[in-house]
Amino acid sequence: LLSVRDLTVSFPQPGAGRVDVVQHVSFDVGRGEVLGLVGESGSGKSVTAMSLLGLVPDPGRVTAAAVRLDGRELTGLAFDELRTVRGGEIGVVFQEPIASLNPAYTVGDQVAEVLREHEGLTRARARARVIELFEQVGIPDPAARIGAYPHQFSGGMAQRVMIAMALACRPRLLVADEPTTALDVTVQGQVLDLLLELRASIGTSILLITHDLGVVADVADRVAVMYAGQLVECGPTEEVFRRPSHPYTEGLLASLP
Ligand code: ATP
Ligand code: MG
Repeated sequence: LLSVRDLTVSFPQPGAGRVDVVQHVSFDVGRGEVLGLVGESGSGKSVTAMSLLGLVPDPGRVTAAAVRLDGRELTGLAFDELRTVRGGEIGVVFQEPIASLNPAYTVGDQVAEVLREHEGLTRARARARVIELFEQVGIPDPAARIGAYPHQFSGGMAQRVMIAMALACRPRLLVADEPTTALDVTVQGQVLDLLLELRASIGTSILLITHDLGVVADVADRVAVMYAGQLVECGPTEEVFRRPSHPYTEGLLASLP
């Protein structure tokens, strides 16, 4: 479904000029597949995920890439066209969720808009469904919260809004960057289950970035490992866990209980 080829992203680094923090990264996510993306902090996971969606954090620059969704080239699309793709075919849950919500609209309106567009719901039904979704992702007092603006939410709450949004647009691909890290332990499993339900019900493919190897072992069909900006390993989860081919992966797995 998604094919990423040769993604290279550079950032100016203090005293070092431009540095490629993501180097020639290539991978695929198949239909209905969960690909786990792991790697140490700073290895380039978030930059990879954002850049393939055309959201390179400033002042980053993509210097080479071919990103295809179902054969359609995304790399050359204008920002607005990409926004349409993101709102419909691709759902995103980012590590920095507040930045990815529109500050000018209430969170309730933003999720309702997705529902009205994609499910053709009336205003009243969309509102009811938003409250239901907020409940599912563990937002307390949802009927009151739908009238709040993104800046009035904490990081964890904003992340729940992003997850509700992703569930609302029923995307073909979900890019989720540490989707459960900012959540309470009790909600983590619930949210993961919701994401997996999307796959079960409509075959959503998931690119799941996580630090949690236990989660990878549980839900990822394949796993990709990033180290210092490079993809050093990519294969079926069981195989990689059983026979890692890169020393970094070996070390990572050795830390598993
Ligand atoms: P974590 O697990 O902590 O989320 P990550 O693997 O997601 O880490 P990235 O956020 O992708 O890491 O960052 C990769 C590298 O890119 C960082 O080491 C940093 O040097 C660089 N980088 C990322 N964003 C910026 C920025 N806005 N400006 C300059 N450099 C950046
Ligand atoms: Mg990150």
